[in-house]
Amino acid sequence: MSDQGLIEADKLSVHFPIGGGLLRRPKMLRAVDEVSLSIPKGSFFGLVGESGSGKTTLGRAMLRATPITSGGVRYSDGEVEYDLVNLPKSELIEYRKRAQLIFQDPYAALSPRMTVRDIIAEPLEVMKITNSRDETDARVREIAEKCRLNLEHLRRFPHAFSGGQRQRISIARALVSSPRFVVADESVAALDVSIQADILNLLKALQQELELTYLFISHDLSVVAHICDHVAVMYLGRLVETAPTRELFTAPRHPYTKALLSAIPSLDPDQRGNAQKLEGEIPSPTNPPSGCKFHTRCPHAIDICKQTEPALDHLGSEHDVACHRWQELAHIP
Ligand code: SF4
Repeated sequence: MSDQGLIEADKLSVHFPIGGGLLRRPKMLRAVDEVSLSIPKGSFFGLVGESGSGKTTLGRAMLRATPITSGGVRYSDGEVEYDLVNLPKSELIEYRKRAQLIFQDPYAALSPRMTVRDIIAEPLEVMKITNSRDETDARVREIAEKCRLNLEHLRRFPHAFSGGQRQRISIARALVSSPRFVVADESVAALDVSIQADILNLLKALQQELELTYLFISHDLSVVAHICDHVAVMYLGRLVETAPTRELFTAPRHPYTKALLSAIPSLDPDQRGNAQKLEGEIPSPTNPPSGCKFHTRCPHAIDICKQTEPALDHLGSEHDVACHRWQELAHIP
């Protein structure tokens, strides 16, 4: 893994027992399976894949918001270093100040009974960051202004606002504790396209102003192409490809990445005839296929793909791919 990673996962697995009963053993849902990933400090790091690929669980594990089954996660921002797997409760609250989540749904995320001021102030009070109401108010006003909220609106309740304004409130709440690492989980997915651009521009501006590192989880590759500098592609709990954004979009190597990219209609009109339709549904993570997890949907699968899981190959300093045949398939769009 890289030396400059703000946060790094090492063979990280998150499995959940589901079902089971008196005479039945529970099945294990392998939401995240041995993922190794390094998120460079200051990056806008995209994490993509279909619904059910494990993106949200990976993001939550990096926040220590879900139990980690095995493997490690290390956070290091130059001031503090945390081993998230063995983090005692007393240090977890310190980590929470530095690592925050922006929720997907700006309608469900905000309590309808709290004013905007109280919603943004709550993390300061829960984590005992400020010492007086005046100090809390000053910090709330400061972050609200950075998130381009009208200070007159701090006394109102969330129902008075549009989706875009609510998402600004969610962002202000996430950033009020001055985090270094922010997981943005489908944070523009519920918004109209015109509002999406506005929120993405705000996230980008805040990244530079506040020196943030984002893990930006999205199923929308056109959004990721626009804003992220690195991208990781997940399929059924595994990482299948990671690369700088430009490289991933111009020279993808994994058949799954190629299929996802070819499904973006406006990316390259000349290539539309070559679009590879992704057939079938993603298999259940309680009963994943043997070998390469993608073999049941991959048009290039051969015998070895069904038997042996491909390891991540390092193509360059930052480009990794997990496919037995990536070299043979390099010239196939
Ligand atoms: Fe397809 Fe085989 Fe590569 Fe998996 S390892 S993506 S099945 S060619």
